[in-house]
This record gives sequence, structure tokens and C-alpha cells, in this order.
Amino acid sequence: MIIFGTGPVRSTIQSGNFNCPQCERSVPYRHRKVTKFFSLFFIPIFPIASPMEYVECGSCNSTFIPRVLGGGSQTTAVSGTTKAVSAAEAPQEDNFMAIYEKAIRHCMVLVMLADGVIDENEKIQVQKIINKFGHNDLTMEQLEGYIEQVKTENQDVATYLRKVGPSLNDHGKDTIIKVALSVADADGHIDKSEIEMITKMSNAMDMSSSHLKRVMGEFNEKRRELAN
Ligand SMILES: [Zn+2]
Repeated sequence: MIIFGTGPVRSTIQSGNFNCPQCERSVPYRHRKVTKFFSLFFIPIFPIASPMEYVECGSCNSTFIPRVLGGGSQTTAVSGTTKAVSAAEAPQEDNFMAIYEKAIRHCMVLVMLADGVIDENEKIQVQKIINKFGHNDLTMEQLEGYIEQVKTENQDVATYLRKVGPSLNDHGKDTIIKVALSVADADGHIDKSEIEMITKMSNAMDMSSSHLKRVMGEFNEKRRELAN
């Protein structure tokens, strides 16, 4: 039997100290490179996608785009004029927001849009959950603007997570799954279709089923603690 698959291979390009936007002080970082490889018998054979880079904080574990280190890296300069301009115009806090926090906002809006209708109550719940797990507070106006933006992109949650997944570490992936579980649990119970959706999200981020089980276990334990 031939066992083949795809998986990320991570390496550290550089390390040092940086001003973490989340910790708001100087802390150690690792500049990481992730390359998705085709593997045979668990041995990486050849890369199947161009490498992605991120900066990981050694204190809070958040990951950020490489530009957080300052001095403008070459990787971002290549991404075309239109993109460079819009990134420069965007508020700094959004630019350097932890990748998992951006992903949380994006995923929650996609989950809300999945059934086609968004009511006021749903928006309030999602805003509360985003602000509970995130570092930067999101106003209702910002959330509404975000919904419009995500609508025009028109891509499903798995496609989105497959794209950002390599820039997330376990801390980021775990947080995204916990947020999704909180949203599913907002009405008091997590049903089968919600579990299916969350499983799809974890698969898109290359999480193993045992990893997902562990995160769900942690979530249920927390929930039981709060109920008592
Ligand atoms: Zn930090």
C-alpha cells in the first residue's frame, strides 16, 4: 500500500525581539516559513504551493504578517501596486492584527451568511463573541461594513481557511474552532449540521481528527464549568 498525502513543513528563518501588537511590549519572536509538500510514506517529496511566511510571538503565541517586523519585507513588495496601496491606506491596527483574529472575523461572517439571512440578534451575538475572543474591539458599524466586504468576495469558509491555514499555528486554529463552537452553541445546543461545518473548517486548516476532538473536549469542559 502506498501512503501519500499533503502537509505543511515549517522552518524558522529568523528570530529576535519585536513589539508584539497584542502583548504591547517587546517580546521574542520567530519568523516562520511554511511550505506545503506532497509526501510519500510521510516523507515530504516536493512542494505543491509557494511558501507562506508569518511572525509568531513567543509570549502570546499569536501569528502576524511579516511586515509587523517593520522595514518592509520583499515578500510584500511583490504583491502588486493595487494591493500595496490598499494595505498602506488601511488602519495600522488592522494591518497588524493577529492573523487568527482576522480569520475569526472573516469566518464568523461567513458562518452567518451561510443560511442566507442575517438578523439583528445574530449580529449582536457574533459581535459579542468576536470581542470576547479578540484583542481589538469591533463596533456594530465595523461589523456591518465587514459583512458587506465578505459578501462581495463570495467564497465559502473552507476555501477561505485553506488559504489562511498555513499562516496559523495551533493556538490560532484552536481559537477559531472554539469561536465557531461558541457561535453554534449560542442557541443552547450544537446540532449535527453545525458539527459537520466545524469539522469541515478543521479539515481546511489541516487539523487532525484527534486534534479537533481535543479542542472540542476542552470547550465542553469549560462549558460544564460555567454551567455549575
Ligand atoms: Zn504577543
